[in-house]
Amino acid sequence: MVQSAVLGFPRIGAFRELKKNTEAYWNGKISADQLLAVGKEIRAHNWKLQKDAGVDIIPSNDFSFYDQVLDLSLLFNVIPDRYTKYNLPSLDTYFAMARGLQRKAAENSKAVDVPALEMVKWFDSNYHYVRPTFSHSTEFKLIGSKPIDEYLEAKAQGIETRPVILGPVSYLFLGKPDKDSLDLEPIALLKSLLPVYIQLLKKLAAAGAKEVQVDEPTLVLDMPKKVQAAFKTAYDAFAAEEGLPELILTTYFGDVRPNLSAIKGLKVAGFHFDFVRDPEQLEKVASILGDKQTLSVGVVDGRNIWKNDFAASIALVKKAIKKIGADRVIVATASSLLHTPVDLTNEKKLDSEIKDWFSFATQKLDEVVTIANAISGKDVSEKLAANALSIKNRKEHEINNDAAVQKRTSGIDDAMATRSSPFPKRLAVQKGEFHLPLFPTTTIGSFPQTKDIRVMRSKFTKGTISEEEYTNFIKKEIKGVVDFQEKVGLDVLVHGEPERNDMVQYFGERLKGFAFTTNGWVQSYGSRYVRPPIIVGDVSRPAPMTVKTSVYAQSLTEKPMKGMLTGPITILRWSFPRNDVPQKTQALQLSLALRDEVQDLESAGIHVIQVDEPALREGLPLRAGAERNDYLKWAAESFRVATSGVKDTTQIHSHFCYSDLDPNHIKALDADVVSIEFSKKDDANYIQEFANYPNHIGLGLFDIHSPRVPSKEEFIARIGEIMKSYPAEKFWCNPDCGLKTRKWEETTASLTNMVAAAKYYREKY
Ligand code: GLN
Ligand code: ZN
Repeated sequence: MVQSAVLGFPRIGAFRELKKNTEAYWNGKISADQLLAVGKEIRAHNWKLQKDAGVDIIPSNDFSFYDQVLDLSLLFNVIPDRYTKYNLPSLDTYFAMARGLQRKAAENSKAVDVPALEMVKWFDSNYHYVRPTFSHSTEFKLIGSKPIDEYLEAKAQGIETRPVILGPVSYLFLGKPDKDSLDLEPIALLKSLLPVYIQLLKKLAAAGAKEVQVDEPTLVLDMPKKVQAAFKTAYDAFAAEEGLPELILTTYFGDVRPNLSAIKGLKVAGFHFDFVRDPEQLEKVASILGDKQTLSVGVVDGRNIWKNDFAASIALVKKAIKKIGADRVIVATASSLLHTPVDLTNEKKLDSEIKDWFSFATQKLDEVVTIANAISGKDVSEKLAANALSIKNRKEHEINNDAAVQKRTSGIDDAMATRSSPFPKRLAVQKGEFHLPLFPTTTIGSFPQTKDIRVMRSKFTKGTISEEEYTNFIKKEIKGVVDFQEKVGLDVLVHGEPERNDMVQYFGERLKGFAFTTNGWVQSYGSRYVRPPIIVGDVSRPAPMTVKTSVYAQSLTEKPMKGMLTGPITILRWSFPRNDVPQKTQALQLSLALRDEVQDLESAGIHVIQVDEPALREGLPLRAGAERNDYLKWAAESFRVATSGVKDTTQIHSHFCYSDLDPNHIKALDADVVSIEFSKKDDANYIQEFANYPNHIGLGLFDIHSPRVPSKEEFIARIGEIMKSYPAEKFWCNPDCGLKTRKWEETTASLTNMVAAAKYYREKY
């Protein structure tokens, strides 16, 4: 019998129970015990679900109140002193590390003021983990028992589980030195960390765990030699111990081949690889297995929502069996299912034909089991037939086969992706068009999304107010924002985006080829979840999406009004993409739809147009090489196709945030002006790198995630700092990102001070 395995299950609950309760705890509405009980309920529910589905190997310790990497830091005592000094209860220390804590002194507690640890993207997913931070004083100690407790909890429920932990090499490699220990290389701590892992593994064995899933996802990254060598050190140390559970060394999200020498010969019970991401690696990875080692074959996608193609998966598993025999093969999810929504059956509004193409985490359980059963020779013919039919229906559906879109996409040529004149010439005519002062000021697009706006939007969605009422409300909001900007003295205005719930969903809802869920939430970080739209077919734009709004906003002012669009890469990255056509094709289809919008805006008198690409950086393939270079090419091409159909006089802006950007990556977009998140960047070299950027650029001057208001003097000092290495004639003044999460008070004060600082420099230069 071939076994089925799941690497991890979403922990947010089918109806976001975890979010609601965690936030209630933060707001003092429920107690720690109540929150812990919710966690317990979710775990019990998930285990039972998997058991009932017939999954053989069910994970434990995949639950987390915030992040599984942070859990490990707490378990191993990797807690910087700034968090321990307040003697908070451990749950509060945990949340303080995750999200910072600011609390006034009260009767029996001191004031607390501590920022969060850094949060970074988990590989190329939209999940973020809390980065472990090591210092010379870090003393690894096993100070908790979460993996053991959760293993026993499942056992008490009558369910045998396989605990999951992040492996030692990945844990260290994903961390960084703390501020006070910048010379420290985390991987150098391996020797002192291993005894703690051994202690943990022994405790798991003593509790009864026979096998542990040890995740080492960094094996899909480029790793320095030192880190590669650490695998042997670590896993040899484990092999030398008596009384440890069997270890399944688990990788996902990519191709392990370049790092195979690092794991070849390790004495683990088996390996897991992601064959959804890279089926080609099967041949090579199977060749490193020892005679007894098992191969866990990841064939059920943990990152996307498409129904598994059973025929293809079964063929792949059979190939593995041919190599090493059925008794050593396990059928598994490719990665944890954390990155997929919980349950498709809760979607009541999806078109039933299209809904049949999807599979969420709960449905994926049945998929691994069915594939394993098929391989084991059980009669699953009905399921296989239904699956084949669904796959066929999808392929043939008209939404997937829009000949006009396909023809237009394949007709894209260099000319469509190139502005008619190079930047210096455009700059000259744009100067004549806009007469902007030096240090022009602008914002990134959104203004505070007040409670009023949310209430009206929800009334409109529910149908309790008419379209006309809603439109009039939005118009009033826009007028307010325009008047405000005039009063503050900004130079290039925006309409404020009050009509947009989300920068991707708003466009998805207006494009053909998208589907939306009601409950399809996926954890992005902590209690923040996203509900990505799904690209279900060829994408096109049936009608203008933003023109009316922008034209109305422009009618209220003499100043240039900036049209505001989301770029092709960001729409693609923040949706579930199709798996039946290359991402490049999807990006280009989006770019054509946006190109039409950009041209319509221009014809309607909007001559400054911003196309946001905050997700450009995160789409970068994990490893250097051909795939990455290729991505950079087609990402830039998509942006240029979207924005190059305009006259020289039209000024194209773009915006980037959330990541350390390489100026070279954005150069190829050839936008006239880019604005980037920058207020927390202190590295002089980094400023210098951007000074060499050829076109105009606004380095974000204030943090929009914080209520803090910088004074005029602070703005002046910051701009002065930048001006040391930066040409004044290229510089724009703007915040880091949109202001939608801020309050009006803070927004007014910050922008007033920013404009005052810009005026100060205008007089100086
Ligand atoms: N224009 C968007 C806004 O201002 C940009 C958001 C983003 O970059 N994440 O909200
Ligand atoms: Zn942004």
